[in-house]
Amino acid sequence: MAERRDVVIIGAGAAGMMCAIAAGGRGRRVLVIDHARAPGEKIRISGGGRCNFTNIHAGPKNFLSANPHFCKSALARYTPRDFLDLVERHGIAWHEKTLGQLFCDRSAKDIIAMLLAEMAAAGAELRLSTPVAAIEHTGAGFRIVTEAGEIEAAALVIATGGKSIPKMGATGFAYRVAEQFGIPVVETRPALVPLTLDPATLAANEDLPGVAVDVAVRHGRTEFREAMLFTHRGLSGPAILQISSYWREGEEIAVAIRPDLDFASVFAAARRENGRQAVQTVLSEHMPKRLAQRLAADLGLDGPLAELSSRRLDALMHRLADWRMRPAGSEGYRTAEVTLGGVDTAALDSRTMAVKAVPGLHFIGEAVDVTGWLGGYNFQWAWASGRAAGESA
Ligand code: FAD
Repeated sequence: MAERRDVVIIGAGAAGMMCAIAAGGRGRRVLVIDHARAPGEKIRISGGGRCNFTNIHAGPKNFLSANPHFCKSALARYTPRDFLDLVERHGIAWHEKTLGQLFCDRSAKDIIAMLLAEMAAAGAELRLSTPVAAIEHTGAGFRIVTEAGEIEAAALVIATGGKSIPKMGATGFAYRVAEQFGIPVVETRPALVPLTLDPATLAANEDLPGVAVDVAVRHGRTEFREAMLFTHRGLSGPAILQISSYWREGEEIAVAIRPDLDFASVFAAARRENGRQAVQTVLSEHMPKRLAQRLAADLGLDGPLAELSSRRLDALMHRLADWRMRPAGSEGYRTAEVTLGGVDTAALDSRTMAVKAVPGLHFIGEAVDVTGWLGGYNFQWAWASGRAAGESA
């Protein structure tokens, strides 16, 4: 005889655990199944071990989706303030790092412990190290076949995340379930991921790995102002991770170095003070020396500032304001923080995350075609979509 539950949730990550808390809190008999040995592994490694658990400015504009309106309902009904209230009720110390990003003072493990405590209080059961062999659609709901036996449930929530970081157990399972039920999936690709450069550009950049600088990076009309880091494979840092969600193979990105500075005034003042100094000396007051040297060398600017023609100065200013780079590719799912695309929101009810054509089946979290910017937005989507499903499943 199969075990019976009201709700089975596959995936004990951020979205699955939040869903279990909400469904269990409504008196539903909830079982969460995960093939991993520990719950919330991505929470544990997130935010450099301190978990950037939300962003106080999170709103629909911070998410990419084929339907940008889909995320509105869930985000409006479970806000960053709601999650922060939960964090504070558990006495977890937190701080705002930058740009509305909230982190634990101590450890991401505090967030996992909080979610497990809330699940236990809601009576939700957790079964780890349990791979799911098959899902069958029955007249009354679903039969979930695992190595440890079968479970029948009226509601099934798929919370298995995306494909990023396969070595942590990411599988693409949600897309296979979608396929099984005839639900479309928006093409998936690695996002929030470092970009690579071709060998010739890397050779020209050989002095730059490790150099970080504040930039504005643009792709079309999208712009992010954060730090960029040169690496041995290409480009990284928050500005690059952000733009990677918008960039496509073959396209250019445009980088402005130190967009907070008016370089025309910087050079005019430097010329007045000491026209004998080299361009790279002036530049290196405002950026790492190796980058200043590379820019000066690239444009052949080796003489004193006072002897620089206005045409060559203009070329330098242009490079500083609009450095065009054509990445060769990305580092892929191995290092991507998230998966862009996923279960097509057109198939889902935005209030409940339920599949419109399959009563009782829900998809939540990163598995769905809703992808946040870097900075706590992806967890806020996991909490909000998990909550929405848990209130209805
Ligand atoms: P996940 O957290 O990925 O959980 C999915 C769960 O399903 C996992 O427990 C997995 O073991 C389980 N599972 C998968 N396949 C199966 C299967 N076949 N059978 C059973 N179980 C399965 N976002 C932020 O907002 N802030 C951050 O600071 C942040 N830092 C990050 C750092 C890194 C290195 C990475 C990789 C991501 C980071 N993210 C961050 C993104 C964030 O972790 C994810 O968006 C979020 O975890 C998605 O939640 P989820 O519950 O949908 O999926």
